[in-house]
Amino acid sequence: MPMPAFELIKDLSVNTGKWMDAMCERVESWIHTNEVHDISALEEPVDPDVADETFELDRCIECGLCVTSCATALMRPDFVGPAGLNRVARFQIDPHDHRTDADFYELVGDDDGIFACMSLLACDDHCPKHLPLQEKIAYMRRKLVAQR
Ligand code: SF4
Repeated sequence: MPMPAFELIKDLSVNTGKWMDAMCERVESWIHTNEVHDISALEEPVDPDVADETFELDRCIECGLCVTSCATALMRPDFVGPAGLNRVARFQIDPHDHRTDADFYELVGDDDGIFACMSLLACDDHCPKHLPLQEKIAYMRRKLVAQR
């Protein structure tokens, strides 16, 4: 059967790209900063452990398996999904992004975001890139609960 949670194109083809595009817009999946960088100057070095952690989450290939295997995503079409929460966790780690936990709370601190997850964690079981979805969703939930 075609993967549920995504718009059906035809036969077994679904439009994961449209879903991922909307998710990226929703979680504002880009660096937020007011700093002006001099591109001729050397970049501020990033702690190698932090860089590794960021690159680890950047390995998402947007296959959609975490979304299609998620019971919450199937019941709640507006759920940001595990891939979306992974994006938020990625920018929360990145020292170039100056958004605060309060800003991330504004984005996903609701029942279609981090608090929709029922912790069934099929996403973590099925991710072909073995991204630490369970760990990151739990971490983001703890961080954002403190904003309530
Ligand atoms: S299953 Fe893993 S690689 Fe695929 S979209 Fe979800 S987080 Fe990304």
